[in-house]
Amino acid sequence: MLEPFQTHEVFNQSPPFQDVNLFTTDAALMEAVSREGANGSTQQLAQFGHTCGSAEALEQARLANDNPPRLLSFDSKGARLDLVEFHPAYHALMAISIGQGLHCSAWDHLAGGHGKRRPGATVERSAGCYLANQMEAGHQCPITMTNAAVPTLLLEPDLAGRWIPKILTRSYDKSLRRLAEKRGATIGMGMTEKQGGTDVRANTTRAAPVAAGGPGSQYLITGHKWFMSAPMCDAFLVLAQAPAGLSCFLLPRVLPDGRINALRFQRLKDKLGNRSNASCEVEFQAAHGWMIGEEGRGIPSIMEMVTLTRLDCAVASAGLMRLALANAVHHCRHRRVFQKRLVDQPLMQQVLADMALDVEAATALCFRLAGAFDRPEDTTAAAWRRLMTPVTKYWVCKMGPALGYEALECLGGNGYVEEGLAARLYRELPLNAIWEGSGNVMALDLLRVLQREPEAFECVLEDLGADIAKDAHLQAHLERLRVLLQDPVRLDGRGRDLIEGLALLAAGAVLRRHAPNFVADAFIGTRFAGTGGRSYGQGLAAANPRAILDRALAG
Ligand SMILES: Cc1cc2nc3c(=O)[nH]c(=O)nc-3n(C[C@H](O)[C@H](O)[C@H](O)COP(=O)(O)OP(=O)(O)OC[C@H]3O[C@@H](n4cnc5c(N)ncnc54)[C@H](O)[C@@H]3O)c2cc1C
Repeated sequence: MLEPFQTHEVFNQSPPFQDVNLFTTDAALMEAVSREGANGSTQQLAQFGHTCGSAEALEQARLANDNPPRLLSFDSKGARLDLVEFHPAYHALMAISIGQGLHCSAWDHLAGGHGKRRPGATVERSAGCYLANQMEAGHQCPITMTNAAVPTLLLEPDLAGRWIPKILTRSYDKSLRRLAEKRGATIGMGMTEKQGGTDVRANTTRAAPVAAGGPGSQYLITGHKWFMSAPMCDAFLVLAQAPAGLSCFLLPRVLPDGRINALRFQRLKDKLGNRSNASCEVEFQAAHGWMIGEEGRGIPSIMEMVTLTRLDCAVASAGLMRLALANAVHHCRHRRVFQKRLVDQPLMQQVLADMALDVEAATALCFRLAGAFDRPEDTTAAAWRRLMTPVTKYWVCKMGPALGYEALECLGGNGYVEEGLAARLYRELPLNAIWEGSGNVMALDLLRVLQREPEAFECVLEDLGADIAKDAHLQAHLERLRVLLQDPVRLDGRGRDLIEGLALLAAGAVLRRHAPNFVADAFIGTRFAGTGGRSYGQGLAAANPRAILDRALAG
């Protein structure tokens, strides 16, 4: 019965996707975490999955994106401030992720000396990041960079001794104070300049030694960075040209004597997505920086940070894809069209199941790679890190935007409206492919490994060999890749063929071994046997979409 003046009843709309445990509803994630070495972490991840999927956390995410950060360049009397003001929701999200240790837990063994790495630490942390990205992606930027900065800091024991204990705390301290007075610290990174991002050798920012110079000593840095995200971090790892060439420096925002360092934020980027996170243009006006590693060896010094960031980009995209899928499945389980739930309409079932196959593959590959970061002494793991980091980053981050779009369409008009999750996810998804090495750069990195360290390729293939041998489609795909590789003259133009081909092969092999047959058969059938198409929902006539979807979102 309608109330007076009520024109209609609202029905057949899906309830909001919230108060969902993002860990315990995700079978592929739970299995990957257990098999890759973090079985002991499932209980705490289940708790974190509950937090990340709670209505309260998702509301903070909405607020942090609807109220983006603002640059405060000057105070009311004209004095420089160089502050970025965030909505309290952003700080709440940072406190959740830092409280969980996502910025540092892989390095807990460094507390109080150099202990042994905890087995499964990277896998556990990656699972946390996968969940936290679903809660809200923008605040994960400083979390990722802080974690990734640790190996670079370790190159300079004196700096490491001061900064790492502050990084290892679980306290989010947003105050602008000198390090000694802070409860916790975060680290950002500045490499990209106007005239060159990928080509950092083109950097023009200069570094002049204050005294003798050399590793650990102080320089004055003058120049700019065209993109420097999370400018409210406590310090930044920055590349600049020293007399002996491109070198790596740590630039704190507040100097040890309490003075503000000369980092002048010019403006914040007006970005397609990633709105809760600030990304700035900055000038360094003789800012104080401490050299890390040898002068002229800036790229090798920062390289491990780059590799760890690439792992996080892939994990983040896999998490965002899973949320886009889960949100679409949830909607289709509630929405009825033509007397049937959408999820029971055969065509929609196939579209959703096809997307679920990509999420399964992305998740399996990311966590197989994350596990390799937990075994520093193992040669097969080293080959995975070197070869499969660019491959996984390329492939997972490239799949994200297409999946985000299709997931959005599953919600019909509601998908295109900013109030829902789908639109924000769609705008967020292209970023991870650009950041820290865009698509072609990943393909070129793979070619470099294939040419300089062919043993890494053979080692990964040997590792996957038994699973490839089990499947005629995977075997035939490998033969095609080998033919491509035997044509070194044309290799330069084949980077994308090889990188996508290798990603598919590895994902197919990992699913063949670990996923239920209804997943592995459908993935391999559509991605290798030629029945799939360029858009989702093709070639699955013989598959079991209902089983695939029950697995994709339990409940
Ligand atoms: C939201 C956001 C946040 C960011 N935050 C940071 C940050 O905190 N710190 C930081 O240092 N940077 C940051 N960046 C910058 C980012 O890392 C760079 O934009 C990225 O590395 C690409 O560099 P570029 O923009 O100079 O493009 P370019 O280097 O000019 O590349 C343009 C295109 O050319 C391709 N390309 C490059 N070289 C080759 C080649 N040899 N052959 C074929 N194709 C090639 C690339 O794949 C890319 O598609 C951020 C960017 C964004 C969008």
